[in-house]
Amino acid sequence: MGFCFSEVLPDVFHIEDSLGVCMTLLCGSREALLVDTGFGLEDVAAFASSLTDRPIRPVLTHGHYDHILGAGWFSEAALLEEDRELAQEHGSAFWRKRTLEEAARRGFYADEEAFLSRPAPVWKKLEEGWIDLGGLSVQVIRCPGHTEGSAVFYIPERALLLTGDDWNPCTWLFFPEALPVQVYRRNMQQLLKLPFRHVLCPHRTELYERSMLEDFITGLTDDKLLSAKPVDNGAWLGIRTVQAEPAPDQCIIFDAEKMRRYGQENHERE
Ligand SMILES: [Zn+2]
Repeated sequence: MGFCFSEVLPDVFHIEDSLGVCMTLLCGSREALLVDTGFGLEDVAAFASSLTDRPIRPVLTHGHYDHILGAGWFSEAALLEEDRELAQEHGSAFWRKRTLEEAARRGFYADEEAFLSRPAPVWKKLEEGWIDLGGLSVQVIRCPGHTEGSAVFYIPERALLLTGDDWNPCTWLFFPEALPVQVYRRNMQQLLKLPFRHVLCPHRTELYERSMLEDFITGLTDDKLLSAKPVDNGAWLGIRTVQAEPAPDQCIIFDAEKMRRYGQENHERE
């Protein structure tokens, strides 16, 4: 199996790992930024180094295991402070074993002992603001939603936005660590002020046009959210998950109870 990649824009590589999650390598003339690191079953540091001879700095869009476990192939990695604890939890044996189960289901051989014993990197604090890679600049933007410490990345020279799990064509907002859908919507609406033309997300390999994300965000109307239909997410029992379709062929799955509670509390405050 191994990694698949394509250079979706000049010096922008979207890389898919063997379990199907994507990361993005941004190659400047001075250094490279690896946004997310995948499940980490294979040496992502070595693979990224085959695409650039510049030093590579890993940064994470949020603390979930399918994005952070690959950071163990580096000595340090940065994420927003709010997701540090989540990343520590998701680096635990529980989530590593879950990853190995998924690998086994897909018939992927992994060195289990090495994977379970690989030390976590030193977690560094990712700061909001600009990173200059040399010829490519990256704006780190705090955008709580999918998790409290979710970050999105904007690259003006390529008119590109990397959304992390804050947006995929099917967006998951039902975990306990996700914010109420109303707060998520407000934060996502801010992103539309940026003049991006292209979008990459972690759970698809395609480079999308702006309209795809724009249709999704503008489609998150009260009507759509209130008429969301129950959907069974299987693994996270006890959460009343519902699904809305903000745009054609796109969906958002969220916690209806969290939306109701937030609506009530904020209505009462008015
Ligand atoms: Zn996630």
